[in-house]
Amino acid sequence: MSLKFSVLASGSSGNAVYVETEQTRLLVDAGLSAKQIQILFEKAACGEVADIDGILVTHEHSDHIKGLGVLARKFKLPIYANKNTWNAMNGLIGEVATEQKFEFEMESVKTFKDLEVESFGVSHDAAEPMFYVFHHNGRKLALMTDTGYVSDRMKGIIRDSHSLVIESNHDINMLMMGRYPWNIKRRILGDHGHISNEDCGHALADVIGDGTKHIYLAHLSKDNNMKDIARLAVEQTLKTYDISAGEQVILHDTDASQPTKLALV
Ligand SMILES: [Zn+2]
Ligand SMILES: [Zn+2]
Repeated sequence: MSLKFSVLASGSSGNAVYVETEQTRLLVDAGLSAKQIQILFEKAACGEVADIDGILVTHEHSDHIKGLGVLARKFKLPIYANKNTWNAMNGLIGEVATEQKFEFEMESVKTFKDLEVESFGVSHDAAEPMFYVFHHNGRKLALMTDTGYVSDRMKGIIRDSHSLVIESNHDINMLMMGRYPWNIKRRILGDHGHISNEDCGHALADVIGDGTKHIYLAHLSKDNNMKDIARLAVEQTLKTYDISAGEQVILHDTDASQPTKLALV
């Protein structure tokens, strides 16, 4: 009776998360080439891509859908996304057969055999971006990246997850001092961009519950962040709330091209 997952890849160059139970196997986003995703499945020992039950889409940015069309066509996989995301993906993923297209509306729950999936909206500059919480046999896994801030509503939904994959996008100083043009910096820092390492720490302090153990820092900016800096910033922020990383909760890295170990939630 287990819920397992692997963050196959995370970051602005491509995102994909694999989730499985005894009866159900899902992919969230396919933001790398189909070939790369197949390699990541192999590396993480996630079995055959052909056997998954479907791909859940969070939003239409290319780092989340780059390989979606090819992968879905190659293995005849169902794709789940909300209506506005489907419209926004029109022309971006090529032809997908009608029988592979499914709607998964924001703020709704879908049951895939023994796995319950809940969708919730985030604040990001896409058509209707949403992320997912997975429930199986009393265990809870939440995925949430690509958001400019974390609202109380979002916190309520992801609160007390046993495992949590959360965005820790940038170090504010690295971003401000970096070479990005101002309009891009403003986009990243804005309410519809991405959350910083400190924002991540503050949000975590509000959502860590008695059951929370594993926290995966995700969607790190390649140019404006580093794993050590992200982990340290989150650790220090949590410390101001008397939450000790390493004891109470364990912080894990994610990588742009290396999957995390297929782990129990
Ligand atoms: Zn995005
Ligand atoms: Zn993204």
